[in-house]
Amino acid sequence: MANSTDRLLHVYFFPFLAHGHLIPTVDMAKLFAGRGVKTTIVTTPLNAPNFSATTTTGPDIQTRLIDFPAAEFGLPAECQNLEFISAHNKGWEGVSQFTRAAVALREPFEKLLEQDRPDCLVADMLFPWATESAAKFGIPRLIFHGTSFFALAAGDAVATHEPQNRVSSDDESFVIPGLPDEVRFTRRQLPSRQTTGSSEKEEDFMFEFFKRVGESSSECFGTVVNSFYELEPAYADHYRRVLGRRSWHVGPVSLCNADDRAVRGKEATIGRDECLKWLDSKEPNTVVYVSFGSIVKFSAEQMREIAIGIEASECQFIWVVRECHQEDDGNNWLPEGFEDRTSGRGMIIRGWAPQVLILDHAAIGALVTHYGWNSTLEGITAGLPMVTWPVMADQFYNEKLVTEVVRIGVSVGGREWSVDGGGTVGHAAVESALRRVMSREVEEVMGMHRRAKALGEMARKAVEEGGSSYFDLSALIEELRSQT
Ligand code: UDP
Repeated sequence: MANSTDRLLHVYFFPFLAHGHLIPTVDMAKLFAGRGVKTTIVTTPLNAPNFSATTTTGPDIQTRLIDFPAAEFGLPAECQNLEFISAHNKGWEGVSQFTRAAVALREPFEKLLEQDRPDCLVADMLFPWATESAAKFGIPRLIFHGTSFFALAAGDAVATHEPQNRVSSDDESFVIPGLPDEVRFTRRQLPSRQTTGSSEKEEDFMFEFFKRVGESSSECFGTVVNSFYELEPAYADHYRRVLGRRSWHVGPVSLCNADDRAVRGKEATIGRDECLKWLDSKEPNTVVYVSFGSIVKFSAEQMREIAIGIEASECQFIWVVRECHQEDDGNNWLPEGFEDRTSGRGMIIRGWAPQVLILDHAAIGALVTHYGWNSTLEGITAGLPMVTWPVMADQFYNEKLVTEVVRIGVSVGGREWSVDGGGTVGHAAVESALRRVMSREVEEVMGMHRRAKALGEMARKAVEEGGSSYFDLSALIEELRSQT
């Protein structure tokens, strides 16, 4: 432990190797650095370029690299990000191989801790061993789950009380016990051997792994949450007071990128100016942004249904399509002539979009999302109502928060947890959800727009000086300083 009070507090950040974890962690490191904290991000060689542009535009942040032992676990050497697993259809077995390789990072990571001797470690929940690593060097370990208080509370209740084991079918709903609201769920919305399609050996490994994740959450110094209090006060209180978890909310962390919202995560495949020029040509609140994050990969059939639904809705749109859809299928899923017919009113971005820049533009009126927490919070921050399409991970919980607690979402489908996109949602459902969320005539939808706008304003206030997230970050840094 550091014994001098006149040197800078040094915080180590260790994000999991997936964009949805790397991006908010880099933002968080920037927030700490902006408050005079020395920050270091640990990652692997192929992930570093994805955020080097981001970190050079902000405060000084160091990067330390460790090798990812992909080949030792049967994966190609270029596989250093979870994105690769879904892009190459490696399924749950691939997730399990990737997880084993991530567990093997412990030894090289501890070597870095030994060399640099930071004062605190903020490590992703998917490195459950990091609590022991921090203890070895006498420093506090903070955990980052990359999700909402709501999902943390609901996930804890499901793991502890197992209400899913007390219903007789996958479709019978049950109440998640002990939450501030009555939240109903079905077994289909949770992962199981059936929904992951995994073998017994992998299932056992992943079960043990997630058990360790749960244990390390309760054993560590505390939790940093990318959320703001005003969004989910009952759940923040529940997490702290009922579950007894020390936690600090510091979000929305995406707002730390005020200088350049176009540079976040990977380099965008569309130029900032081209994107803004197109958006500037549209009236306010008339364009819907459609994106399913960096991991979800739909079948060609599902992509086609989305295309037909978007076209039939007559909405103006930006649709982000992952590169892997191009590589596997060419454009075969796109109905013939789609781009000619929608020319002017719509744009497909193939690859990586400058998402936060787009969402914050006045022309955007709604967001279609898979409910990854980052996209969800970015949409909330931009004051947008959403069409909800959960697929896996914490996404079904996030959907409940948005549609039932803060009530700013319209559901389109996505009834079953799945690593490969789930059952197909037909084009008629896509069309109807788009028409509904973009409608200015339905009072219920106008209510969503009003509530979404108010939440967006609260999000911005939360990170300003005097706001709840600003305050919590100050309190956390002060507490860490007092520990050194
Ligand atoms: N993102 C982006 N451009 C893209 C796709 C994703 O900037 O084309 C960013 C998005 O803004 C978010 C993150 O990548 O910050 C995705 O995280 P999320 O939790 O929404 O989904 P995941 O990829 O983890 O499923």
